[in-house]
This record gives sequence, structure tokens and C-alpha cells, in this order.
Amino acid sequence: MPSALVFFSEFSEAPSKAQRELLTLASGFENPAVSVASQVSAAAQEVLASYGVVKLYTASSEAQVFGEHELSVLDAALQATGAGLVLLANDNFSRELGARLAVRHNGAIITDVIGITGDLVATKDELAGSYSVQAKPTNGTLFATLKPNSIEDAPAAASVPLAVEELALEDSSDAKVRIAAAEAKAASDRPALTEARVVVAGGRGVNGDFGPVEDLADALGAAVGASRAATDAGWISHDAQIGQTGVTVAPQLYISAGISGAIQQKAGMQTSKFIIAINKDVDAPVFEIADLGIVGDLAKVLPQAAEEIRRRKA
Ligand code: FAD
Repeated sequence: MPSALVFFSEFSEAPSKAQRELLTLASGFENPAVSVASQVSAAAQEVLASYGVVKLYTASSEAQVFGEHELSVLDAALQATGAGLVLLANDNFSRELGARLAVRHNGAIITDVIGITGDLVATKDELAGSYSVQAKPTNGTLFATLKPNSIEDAPAAASVPLAVEELALEDSSDAKVRIAAAEAKAASDRPALTEARVVVAGGRGVNGDFGPVEDLADALGAAVGASRAATDAGWISHDAQIGQTGVTVAPQLYISAGISGAIQQKAGMQTSKFIIAINKDVDAPVFEIADLGIVGDLAKVLPQAAEEIRRRKA
């Protein structure tokens, strides 16, 4: 059984669901270790120990060089552990990090993974969920990015002692690219789109008004998503786009409202566990993959659903 190393840019005492799923997956391997590219508080270290993590590698840096610090931290931790498996988040930044290190160390990278066996056979969905593929590295360390909601979050039965090592990194001040400015995005009370258990998505059918979609999402504690037609129209931020050129989601429940169900939209949502589609056109392709279809005007259906959910919750 290979040893596992998980990488996080930051880790707090309130880790995200996706972070907890990565720790759960790592706990099934030898000597699970974690590397974090910033300082980790004592409370956050307790959380790591509760997932069976035996070693934590940290290093904080003043360097304002995009991605270089994270790369150095993970590389140094990898060399310290000799891990056979490196687990990363499924975002673009982590994918790039994994790919760069896989090239550097003659290893392999597999993205969008939904499970990995003890002998490093990774499972992932391909071609918009039409195929389930098993892949195994032929050489070196496997770098894998885990698709959120694929693993049940499960802390270890008992905490283990956690050893902490501050990594000594080489100076990267001669790097060619520097961050000139950074602006934090406004925080939202809604769950992150790629991690949410419930997603409510709107398309061209909302006709410029995402109010009913957002209201139902808030009644359900859901994230808000959109088709490309809606984001291109400027009705909602591009971050909300689901599909081939947007994000991929796999929530327990996906509610599609006013979206026709083009192949490029399906590519990002059709592995959702249960799909409800609301469309006024009975022939809309989205009904082909829906578990429950409602033929109707979303401006009437969504507010009724939100009202009923609030009534039942009260
Ligand atoms: P439409 O196809 O116009 O459908 C609107 C639907 O709303 C219709 O079915 C209509 O019946 C229904 N409707 C209208 N009014 C109401 C109402 N009041 N109540 C209920 N239903 C109503 N698209 C994506 O979504 N994500 C991607 O990542 C993506 N990537 C792409 C990549 C490429 C290379 C290309 C070529 C296209 C991509 N697209 C993507 C675009 C995709 O092909 C579709 O054009 C897009 O998904 C259509 O969005 P839509 O379903 O909201 O709009």
C-alpha cells in the first residue's frame, strides 16, 4: 500500500467538505501526511489528527510569486515523504500544480477522480458520464484530483499523534512572474457550487431574472448555477456556469430551470444523483436525463416550490 500526501493552500479548523473528503480518502493509505502552504493553527492541527493524519508539513512565505510557493511546499513535502500518491483539490490551480510536479518527477496525473484503490487504480467518469474508466499510473507517483461529493466524509475512529515539520524552502525571488495585485472576492452565504449537495440552475428561460432561482436555492440551502446562455447574457457571473466550458457538479439533487439541456450543459451535471427539470417545452432534451420532469413556467413553479419548502420547514 503506497503512502499518501494531501496538499492544501490553506487549512483552517473549519475545513470545507471537499477538504474533509480528501483527508478521508488519504486515511485509507499508509502514513497519511498533509502539506499546507501557510501556517496551520493548533485547532486546525487537531482536525487533521482526527482524520488519522500522522505528519503535517507547513511553510509560510512572503513571496508574491503566483503558484511558486505552493509548488515549492508540495515538492519539498513530496521529497520528504516519498509518497506514492498525492491528493489535490479538483480546482484549476491544484490541477496545474499536480501536472507540473508530475512532469518534474516523471509521475502521472489523473483528474476528476471519484475513487482510488490501494494499488492506485483510479476511477473517473468520462465523456460526460457515459463511461466509467479505471486508470493506473505506469510510472512514479500518482497525482490525483478528487471530484467533490464522491467520497463520504468520515473522520478516523480515534485521533492519532500529529508530527509537525516546518519546511525550509529555497528562495524563489528570481521567478519571472509576480502578483501585482490581488482582490478577494465577495463572500457568499451559499455553499460553493462544486461542493454543494443541492444545486439550482437557471438558463435562458429565466429571461434575465435569477430571483426565483436564487430564492429556491436559499430555501433549500443550495448553490446557484447557470447555463452558458445565462452567463453570456450577463444575468449572472461566469463562475456560475455549469458544463463543458464551465464547472462540473455532481450534487445529490440538481434542479434545472429554463435550460434546454444541450450536450455541453449536460457534460457538467449529468452525473448528479437526482435531476429535476422544469421547462415549458415538453420536448426539451433535458427531460431525457431528468429523474423528475415538470412541464411548466419556471416563474410559477419555482416560487411555489420555495413557498412549500419554507412552509414544511417552519
Ligand atoms: P436555450 O437552449 O435557449 O434553452 C432555454 C430553455 O428554456 C428552452 O428549453 C425553453 O423551452 C425554456 N424556457 C423558456 N422560458 C421558460 C419558462 N418561462 N419556464 C420554463 N422553461 C422556459 N452551455 C452550457 O450551459 N455550459 C457550457 O459549459 C457550455 N459550453 C459550450 C461549449 C461549446 C464549445 C459550445 C459550442 C457551446 C457550449 N454551451 C455551453 C452552449 C450550449 O450549446 C447551449 O447553447 C446552452 O447550454 C443553452 O443554454 P440554455 O439551455 O439556457 O438556453
